[in-house]
Amino acid sequence: MNALETFGLGVRYGQSWAVRDCTLSIEEGHVVALVGSNGAGKTTLLHCAVGLTEATCGTISVLGDLRAGSDEALARVAFVAQDTPLYRHLTVTEMVEVAANLNRSFDLPFATARLRQLDIPAKRRVGKLSGGQQAQLALTLALARHPDLVILDEPLARLDPVARHDVMALVLSMAAEEGISVIFSSHVVSELERVADYLVLMAHGSLQLTGPIDEILASHTVLAGPADDADRVATQCSVVHVEQAARRVQLLVRHDQSVDIPPGWEASPPSLDELVLAYLRDPSVVGRSGPLALAATRAGGTLR
Ligand code: ATP
Repeated sequence: MNALETFGLGVRYGQSWAVRDCTLSIEEGHVVALVGSNGAGKTTLLHCAVGLTEATCGTISVLGDLRAGSDEALARVAFVAQDTPLYRHLTVTEMVEVAANLNRSFDLPFATARLRQLDIPAKRRVGKLSGGQQAQLALTLALARHPDLVILDEPLARLDPVARHDVMALVLSMAAEEGISVIFSSHVVSELERVADYLVLMAHGSLQLTGPIDEILASHTVLAGPADDADRVATQCSVVHVEQAARRVQLLVRHDQSVDIPPGWEASPPSLDELVLAYLRDPSVVGRSGPLALAATRAGGTLR
């Protein structure tokens, strides 16, 4: 069963497409990182998945063939928005009661225990909590419904590094223990590898790269060699990104099968950070081949 499936999905605002021609199929059980630069279309895609935004064209379904945003889908999907909309005038306890009253499957002992563990003051008004505490509260309320799919729009943005670690640890343990699927958007590239096992990279509303992270890493290699040989090597492979420093060049290349290492060149596996940053730096790239002369990025320093 697919946790999320889209076909030819497009969302247009006026003349511009926030999401375009998006065809995606993610099996359940994955922890999916949705990554892209500002304005890439991440929130729009997530909003479509929970029925907050209507598609201009194409289809989107969750948890098999449930129509995104339908009552049946929403009963099994938890969504935590970027701006964590909570009733700011209620106390934390009242907020938990409201959530419990709205959802029959709400796990009150889970929510209470977690908020206590996080030291979130039960009597404080939600509006007086810090941004990080509000995010923790929203996440706790979402997870206490024991959903099958959790969708988190920038859950880490307002959290300090320790809270960020704790939030993702909780999400991951719930994903492992209860087999739930998780889709979260993030700008925190450095933590993706620890947290996610599936990557969706978006650029300018389109999908740039999608798939299980281990497969993505296995299909990319960093080739390092002499700069004056770079154009020749580049004609033989799909180059994603180029970094040049003095007379050495480093190419991130994408390949279907194992890559042939040219004589005089060295090959090494890319880190996920390195790979994601390379794609983010050049949103037009989906892997290219051919002369590099115009495409090279000069690092200006030593090769990484
Ligand atoms: P960020 O990382 O900054 O949150 P994002 O990847 O989530 O960005 P979206 O918020 O989905 O990107 O926006 C995608 C594009 O659609 C942007 O150009 C944005 O300005 C535009 N957009 C989003 N919502 C609307 C709206 N309601 N009306 C008009 N344009 C919109």
